[in-house]
Amino acid sequence: MTVVRTFKCNKCDFSFKGANIYGFVAYDDNGNRYSCNARPDKVAETISKVFNLSPEIAEKWANFKNDEVPEDIRKKLADNTGMESLFICLNCLAENYIYVRRDKLRCSKCNSVSIMSPYDCCPKCREGKIEAEGILKPSDK
Ligand SMILES: [Zn+2]
Ligand SMILES: [Zn+2]
Repeated sequence: MTVVRTFKCNKCDFSFKGANIYGFVAYDDNGNRYSCNARPDKVAETISKVFNLSPEIAEKWANFKNDEVPEDIRKKLADNTGMESLFICLNCLAENYIYVRRDKLRCSKCNSVSIMSPYDCCPKCREGKIEAEGILKPSDK
């Protein structure tokens, strides 16, 4: 199921819908990114596809059974996966999910480099705190 939440500022009217503030992301050899942010249950399936691993190995790695995963695969996965986190554009208020070690720190909508994590304060009023309103609706598959 896809996770959808509403995030709201407790001081102004700023709000947006998203999945999680953090999420797993994998990169294939061509630099394409595969986000599991809205589907934390799909990590094993995703790495199995992206890195051409057997489902058993992928499952083990996703469940932190690292000592049962061959070292070359562990290294490949360590180098090509990470945690993306949510950034809000201060120019257009778009949501961007970015893995700071791999992705460019800029807005995918307007290309602005003025983006911030909404974790500390609201990107609109800069005073309120962003609060997640739990899971709105578990939608589709
Ligand atoms: Zn923007
Ligand atoms: Zn606000």
